[in-house]
Amino acid sequence: MSTRLECSRRACRWTGDYSTADKRDDGGMKTYICPKCSCDSFYYLPAPVITARVEHANALIKVISEHGRKFFDYNGRIATLELDKNGKVWFVDEYTQRRIYTHYSGRWAGFNNGGTLRSLIESMRTYITKGYQLPLGWIAPTRRNPANGDIWGYGQDAAAAVRKAAATLPIIQTGGKA
Ligand SMILES: [Zn+2]
Repeated sequence: MSTRLECSRRACRWTGDYSTADKRDDGGMKTYICPKCSCDSFYYLPAPVITARVEHANALIKVISEHGRKFFDYNGRIATLELDKNGKVWFVDEYTQRRIYTHYSGRWAGFNNGGTLRSLIESMRTYITKGYQLPLGWIAPTRRNPANGDIWGYGQDAAAAVRKAAATLPIIQTGGKA
């Protein structure tokens, strides 16, 4: 993996590398700048810690991104969860490309999805840190109350397909009913 960068502005936290950063021409000298806020100072981001549970969580994000409305996919760029060396979990948003600290209880600046998906990401964070699996019913949930219906808006077929694919993943409780 190429050198990972994070915009040094705390309010921004765009992440990428030199190939995805923008360049500014300063009289013949090229300066790398953040594509989100045009700031020209970056931190080097250490490579994330890879654990089996991080991989399990990212496998679920990938399955969700491949069905229905393709949550967590923006033009082929898939959101990821990552673990740092202090045991903290971060979410890299597929749309804003910002790195979000998932242990923060306030508003998640840079999170482009709604509260239902935030809750899902928080439960994946807890799986990564503590190992608690998710019930299958949390994937494309259908409520018994027909007024609430299809919360994700995936439609019946895609909801059934994403649950079927998710049911085989280690992050999902076994014996769950689709
Ligand atoms: Zn920035």
